[in-house]
Amino acid sequence: MAWLSSIEPEEPPAEDPEDDPGPDDPPRPGTARSGSRGAKGTSAAKGARPVKGVRAAKGTRRGPGQPGSARRLAGESPGPVGAFATGQLLDTAPGGPVVFGQAEHAAGDDARFAGATDDELTGIICGLDRTEAAACALKHAAVAELIRRRPGPGCEPMLAEPGSWEEFIETELAAALAETRAAADGMLQLTRDLETRLPGTKAAFRSGVLRLSKVEIIARATAHLDPAEARAAETLVLDRAGRLTPGGLASAIKRAAIEVAPEKAQERREKERRNARVQRWMEDSGNAALMGRELPPADVLAAGQRITWWAKRLKAAGLDGDMDQLRALAYMDIMLGRDSRPTGPSVPAGPDAAQHSKSSKPAGPDAGQDGKSSEPGDGGSGPPAPTGPGLAPTAGVLPAGFVGRLHLTIPLTTLLNLAERPGEIAGLGPIDPALARDLARAAAANPATSYCVTVTDLQGHAIGHGCARPEPKNHTRTAGHDPPGDHDPPGDQGVPGDHGTGLRPGFTFTASGDDEPPGGYGAWRLSTGVPGRPDMLIAFDPIAIDTCDHRFEARGHDPGVKLRHLSQIRHATCTGPTCRRPAQQCDFEHNVPYEAGGRSCLCNGGPKCRHEHRLKQDPRWEVEQITPATFRWTAPSGRQYTTEPTRYPI
Ligand SMILES: [Zn+2]
Ligand SMILES: [Zn+2]
Ligand SMILES: [Zn+2]
Repeated sequence: MAWLSSIEPEEPPAEDPEDDPGPDDPPRPGTARSGSRGAKGTSAAKGARPVKGVRAAKGTRRGPGQPGSARRLAGESPGPVGAFATGQLLDTAPGGPVVFGQAEHAAGDDARFAGATDDELTGIICGLDRTEAAACALKHAAVAELIRRRPGPGCEPMLAEPGSWEEFIETELAAALAETRAAADGMLQLTRDLETRLPGTKAAFRSGVLRLSKVEIIARATAHLDPAEARAAETLVLDRAGRLTPGGLASAIKRAAIEVAPEKAQERREKERRNARVQRWMEDSGNAALMGRELPPADVLAAGQRITWWAKRLKAAGLDGDMDQLRALAYMDIMLGRDSRPTGPSVPAGPDAAQHSKSSKPAGPDAGQDGKSSEPGDGGSGPPAPTGPGLAPTAGVLPAGFVGRLHLTIPLTTLLNLAERPGEIAGLGPIDPALARDLARAAAANPATSYCVTVTDLQGHAIGHGCARPEPKNHTRTAGHDPPGDHDPPGDQGVPGDHGTGLRPGFTFTASGDDEPPGGYGAWRLSTGVPGRPDMLIAFDPIAIDTCDHRFEARGHDPGVKLRHLSQIRHATCTGPTCRRPAQQCDFEHNVPYEAGGRSCLCNGGPKCRHEHRLKQDPRWEVEQITPATFRWTAPSGRQYTTEPTRYPI
């Protein structure tokens, strides 16, 4: 890292700063440490003298929440608390008493951190966050010792088995902490997990890389695994767990747990189905909430699409409110068999509603799009109630209205060799292979479902993509006339080497023999196995990751359908730092504005949600597209955070 050489110590250090950290220096973040060695080891920092001039650990991964996540600009003064500046010793040190002492010193008597730059202040915030986690980890170590001192009758003082500790230990802990017994029990369970199943997570907790909430996410997602599987799952995420947001971490560890034990994920899902329920409660505001739990995912997807569909009609009918509010209203409408559209004389219930409402409010851009009649329940012009919107009977046992965009991802090196592995649904997260297969079957039965195939490199980045088109010469598109019986899930036959693969429900995927487009990965034929549906053809386009030949550049400002789609495949979520909003809910945003000469191309833009749009426009923030697929955000403090392209499972 060239920039490191531009760091100047504020004052000459006592020792040669070029020396490697000595054996007594604190270990780097992410490495396990034992006992109090780390605290003693930094005795050079005694007397609240800022530690300066010590070089940062090289090769530290950068990103939100990760030590050393930003750079120092040349010529910038380190200031009196310079050890907290980007990449400096206390910015990369494990949480602990040294970091705490130095932060307290930097705070001053009035806790105003006089003399600290924004960068250093941010380093102090991060250091204290790690310190808080480290203290919490040590507290759990003390709880572990308490457990060892209270073995159950006839038990060894061990932590491994449930019931191996004294019956009333949680009461003792609850009394000490003035907590509920349930909370104390949770603490005991987490302690046992850390001691017996999650050694890597325990070490990351102790160094402060993972705070309690993230540790709990890992423990929860691996609770159903045996110790060896839990260790295997944590190993798959610990290299990046510290810089993932809670949502990102939950998704990653869930996928890892599915990967190491796919059948257990399925068992767990099916077992929890027995706890299906509807909950309602009063919100703090005085409004109320209604929530279904442990529902069949296909039903939830179908219901979600139904709610959005009706919300768009409410919007087209001129009702006020953003989509959240209209979806909430649509949810209640559907539940109650009610129609909240303004009741003029004979308001039609179908797609004509948009036209009808033009007098009161212009139809939104969605109105035309969802005016098509492919939605179930769309054709009627019945009265508003009591049948309710969109409640038309649907064929067979398949969920009503579930339209999927089936997205297969395939490593380039194993184009035809799909392994048993988790799938993913945008907005819902990882799913086990059996569920992926079930959902794909359900979606395949709907003629509006589309198919996308993404080819990934060895890091899981999308490097090629193809959207399936029906084969033109086949005229047997009779989807609308299929008898319900034909909607039975297509079988898995006919795919050599397919051992119940999650993402290919009865699909055959073969080279089509057609001419390969230049630079592509060949042309392929996809058969869904659904009777009456034509085969589909897929031609792959390359996606710009490291270099861009501008082959999909649009002439005008508008990126066009294909460019937008490929940008959403490359970044499946918003390209903002830590943002996980699905790209489908984002806009294609030119990094260099079109008006300023920026291309409408993959190398000059990507999906950004409305929030990151506004963030980018703030003059104190800066965004650079440092490679076609990588965005670097610079915060007002000067810290930098990098957004990679999406990593698909490989
Ligand atoms: Zn596609
Ligand atoms: Zn380009
Ligand atoms: Zn965003």
